[in-house]
Formats: sequence, structure tokens, C-alpha cells
Amino acid sequence: MGVKYIPEPFRIKMVETIKMTTREGREESLKQANYNMFNLKGEDVYIDLLTDSGTNAMSSGQWAGIMQGDEAYAGAKSYYRLAETAQEIFGFEYIQPVHQGRASEKVMFTLLLGKGKVAISNMFFDTTRAHVELAGARAIDCVVEEAKVPSLRSKFKGNMDVKKLESLITEYGAENVGMVVMTITNNSAGGQPVSVQNMKEVAGICKKYGILLNIDAARYAENAYFVKRDEEGYQDKSIMEITREMFSYADTFTMSAKKDTIVNIGGLLGVKDAKKNGDLVMGIKGQCISFEGFVTYGGLAGRDLEALAIGLKEGLEEDYLAYRIGQMEYLAGRLDDAGIAYQSPVGGHGVFVDAAALFPDIPYYEFPAQVLAVELYREAGIRACEIGSFLLGNDPDTKKQLKADFEFTRLAIPRRVYTQAHLDVIADALIAVKERAKEIRRGYRITWEPPVLRHFQAHLEPIKE
Ligand SMILES: *Cc1c(COP(=O)(O)O)cnc(C)c1O
Repeated sequence: MGVKYIPEPFRIKMVETIKMTTREGREESLKQANYNMFNLKGEDVYIDLLTDSGTNAMSSGQWAGIMQGDEAYAGAKSYYRLAETAQEIFGFEYIQPVHQGRASEKVMFTLLLGKGKVAISNMFFDTTRAHVELAGARAIDCVVEEAKVPSLRSKFKGNMDVKKLESLITEYGAENVGMVVMTITNNSAGGQPVSVQNMKEVAGICKKYGILLNIDAARYAENAYFVKRDEEGYQDKSIMEITREMFSYADTFTMSAKKDTIVNIGGLLGVKDAKKNGDLVMGIKGQCISFEGFVTYGGLAGRDLEALAIGLKEGLEEDYLAYRIGQMEYLAGRLDDAGIAYQSPVGGHGVFVDAAALFPDIPYYEFPAQVLAVELYREAGIRACEIGSFLLGNDPDTKKQLKADFEFTRLAIPRRVYTQAHLDVIADALIAVKERAKEIRRGYRITWEPPVLRHFQAHLEPIKE
């Protein structure tokens, strides 16, 4: 079939040499890293698809902004530029910079959650789930059923299951639901978009029960692009208008700015109605000063605030988004041709390969998606990330290994970094692994793990046949 590659709407002004690795060297690196991709040295990786977070290439405009950053401790010009830009885009009154996404979660969640509370989301990202649990509450996923069938091509597979949401609210009691979180795009389900219609319905339910609606907004621009492309009635709207509408349904947002705002560090937190939620804003300021830094810099340098303000707008450019989503479709098209299953249709920030389909005999507790990640590195020096049972971890009560809905190996594509030729190397490596997949029958066992967010640090070893 073949999907046409959409050419880059930019040219390259600066290059960074990457090391060509050898098979022997990679084998040694894997051992040294205890088969955990997070333990590999970056310089031992040829194509790094571990994450699209903070791995973006900034523009000449952003680098120019870096030089203009105002480093005043309080009230820096760069802060006002960032706050005004974010207010204009999202229509929120209060904007708080923080050093990254999980900082916005740490700052806000303890103010809204506690023992006996639950938080419900279309799907919690791992750090988001961790911060709900660290606040003493329970995190419940409520994604539509079609998201759980990788081969099923349907639009807006990131949506909340609204029927289930309402029944969960009645089951736990509205007073015990600290917040509802809409993750756009739905990262854990494969970067799948959420429709505006779905957001509207979820907002309606939250209003009915008096529950706060928070957007986990890391990939707001990619989500808006999918809405424009696929949701009826949005073809003639601009990405900015769609973004504004999506945010109009929420009360607050937490955001990792390391994704769609195309910077290397940063995060934001927003409160739409600062007067109505005056106590919340006051709480956020207090938490921010304690953990992040004074409210006008929030753990970032003035130069970072400046780059972030510029990136907020660049991320919304339609030509850029068409190229960006085009990269996903090109790679996914090559996998279609090779008969390799992935969460389809392809999402916004990467291809989530269905490792359970590739290794049907390896059980979830031997982590088939980690097997594929290791094999991709072994094959071509490509670093991917396990998004499956290894990442999900153990039940907080029984301490037993949980079974994830998916066993994905995520090939996250950094923004404006890799070329079509790199994507071909990735596809070729996957095809090579597929050809020898039958010979791989066993997975990995964990030899050491920390109590929270284990996948970042755990040690693994291959299970011998
Ligand atoms: C990355 C991400 C976060 C956490 O942000 P960090 O910047 O990595 O701390 C939270 N939610 C979602 C959906 C994300 O993708």
C-alpha cells in the first residue's frame, strides 16, 4: 500500500551526531542496564524512541527566546509573556508554571484528593496515577471498550466511557470523587484522541454531580488536530479555536509542557475561574512556593518560560501538526504492509506496537512488550518503552502483579527530530524482529524493584527456557 510521507515544514540549521552502535556493544549495554531501557546510556542509543517528552527540537525562534529570558526572581517579563499566551490560548484565568507535568500533579492533587477519595479518568498516565495514589486516593480508568482492542480501527478511541463514568460516580458517591481527569490525547491507550463531543458529555456529568473536571493536557494540540480531521463539524475551525473549545469544558488543567509545546522542560497548571476557585488558587500558590519555587517562575529559569511561551503557539501550527501526525501514519503504514499489529488507527505521538500479538506465548507476567523493546535495541540500537504490565505494576492492596489491558511497546517519536530514513530503519528493525519472533519463547523476571513507579528503575533478567 504505502503511505506518502508528508515533507517537513522546516529545514535543519544545526545537527547533533549520533553514535552508530555495534551488536556486540549493544549486548553488553543491555546486561549493564539490567535489561531496563531507562538504565541505558543515551549515547549508546542510535534512535531514541523512549519518549517524546522533553526530547523535542526547538526552533530558531525558541533559541532566540532563550537569549531573551528574563531571570528576575519575581515578576519576570518572561513569566508575563507565558501567562498571557496561555490565557489567550486556553481561556483560563490563572496560569501557574511548574518544572514539569508531574509537578503540576503534585502541586494540585493533594489539595483535591485524600484518603477515601477516588479520581476517575479516561486513562491515567503513570505519574498521574502515582500522584493520585500518593495523595492517598484511588485512581480508576474508564476508557471506552474499543480502546482495548488494538486491531479495531475506530475514531476517538481515547474517549471516556460516559455510561461507566456515571455508574462509577453513583457507586462511589459523588462526594467521594475528588476529580475527573480527561487525558488528551489518551497517552496510555496509544496517544488516541478524545472527541469534543465526549468532553462535552463528560463535562455535563461532572456539572450534574458537582465534580471538578481536570484536563491532563500534555498533547492538547495533537488532540485538536485529530478533532479537526475526524470530528464532524470541525473541519473549518482552526486548531486554536478547537483548543479553546476543548478547554472551555474543564475547570482546571495540569500539563506536561515537554510534549506538544516543543520544549525540553516545563509544565503548566491552569484554573479557569480563579474567583470561584479562589481557595484552590491560594492552595496551588502555597504548594508551588513550597515545592517548585516562587509563583512567577515555578521551578523554571526565565529562559525556559520564554521558550515555553513561544512553543505553546508553534505547537498549534497546522502545517507542523500535519507533518507530525503524518510521520506516525507513515510508520504505521509500513507496519500495515508487514502485518505487524499496533494500536490502530495510529495515535498522535507514537506507534504502540501490540507485543502480545507478536509474542502470543509469552504471558503478561513475563512482559512481552519488554521483550520487544529489548529485541529492538539488540537489532538496531532503537530504544522503545514498555507500556504494559511491567509499567502497570502491582496491586497496591494485594501487591500482586496486575494484568494490563495492553502489552504495548511504544515507539514514541520526538518532535522535529528524526527523518523519513530513520523511520525506515525503525520499520525494518521491527520486521526483522517479527521474522525471528517464533524463536523467542520466554520473557523477563524482575530481580529488584522500588516501591513506586518501578519501571523507571527495576532490574530484570531474561528467563531461561
Ligand atoms: C508526560 C505526561 C505526564 C507527566 O509529565 P512529566 O512532564 O513527564 O512530569 C502526565 N500526563 C501525561 C498524559 C503525560 O503524557
